[in-house]
Amino acid sequence: MEQRISWPEGRAFAFTIFDDPDSQTFEASKAVYGFLKDCGFRTTKGVWPNRPTRTPSDCGLTCGESAEYVDWLGKLQAAGFELGLHNVTSHTSLREETLAGLGQFERYFGHFPQSLTNHYFCQESMYWGERRCTGFNRMVYNGVTLGRKRGISYGHEKGHAYFWGDACKERIKYVRNFVFRDVNTLRACPLMPYHDPLRPYVNYWFASTGGNSVEVYVRCLTEERLDRLVEEGGACIMYVHFGHGFYDAGKLDSRFRAIMESLARRKGWFVPVTPLLDFLLSQKAGPADLANKDRAALERRWLLQKLRSGTA
Ligand SMILES: [Zn+2]
Repeated sequence: MEQRISWPEGRAFAFTIFDDPDSQTFEASKAVYGFLKDCGFRTTKGVWPNRPTRTPSDCGLTCGESAEYVDWLGKLQAAGFELGLHNVTSHTSLREETLAGLGQFERYFGHFPQSLTNHYFCQESMYWGERRCTGFNRMVYNGVTLGRKRGISYGHEKGHAYFWGDACKERIKYVRNFVFRDVNTLRACPLMPYHDPLRPYVNYWFASTGGNSVEVYVRCLTEERLDRLVEEGGACIMYVHFGHGFYDAGKLDSRFRAIMESLARRKGWFVPVTPLLDFLLSQKAGPADLANKDRAALERRWLLQKLRSGTA
C-alpha cells in the first residue's frame, strides 16, 4: 500500500491545505494567510467568484462582493499561493452561471482554476452525494446516510440545467473526493491523483485529511502524528475551513499557531495542492486510471471510517 516518495529539494515530507471559503471573512483571510506566508507555507485557497444572486447557503465572502478582496487574492497568488474553485458561489448555479463564474475567475486571476472542491450545498457539484460511491458501496452509503445524499449532484449529468462536466474536464485538473482521518493522506489514498473511468468529467481526483474546523484540525495534527508524517515521508493535504474558528475575536487560535510553527520547523515541502499533485502524477510509472478493485477498496475504506466515527 505505502509508497516511499523522494520529495523535491531533499524534503522529508509534504504538507499542504485546501481551504474552502465557507464562513470566512476578509479579516480572517488576511490574518490566516499573513501568518501562513510568514511561516513559509504556500497552500491553496478556495474562492467563490460569483456574488450570490439567490439566497446564499453561507456567509463567506465572494469575489463578486469586494474588489478589494479580489485585489488581495491576486497578491496572494503572486506570493505563491494557489487559488482554487469551490463551485462558483455558495448557492446552486445553472450551467450558464457556472460557465460565467469560470470566465470571471479567469478575468480576475489570469487563468482558469486548476483545482476544485465541491461545496456541500451546490447541486451542480461533480459526482457528489451518493455519486461518490459505486455499486454495492453506493447502497451502503445510502443506507448509512438514510438516503439523504440522493439527488443532490448534477454537474456531471449531460442535459441537466446544472451540467458543466464538459467545462470541468476542459478547464480543471484536480477535484477532491474522499476525506480521511489519517494525517498521511497518501497512506489513506496511495493512488492519488487518480482518474476514475466511471467519472469521466473529472480529470484526476485527490483525497484529503479532515480538519474542517479548528477543533478537528487541532485533534488531528498532534505532535505524535506530525512525527509519524515525517517518519513515513508522507503527504498531507488538509481539508480546512479557515472560517470555522481559526480566527476569532481579532486573533488566530493559539493551538493552530503552535501546530503550524511546529510543522514549519520540520523541513517539509510546502507547496499548494496542484504542484504537489503534479509531482505525484509525475512519479507514476503507469496510467493513473483507477481499476475496479481499487475503486471498490477505496470507497470501502472511506465508508468503514465513516461508520466507525459516526460522521456519516
Ligand atoms: Zn463549502
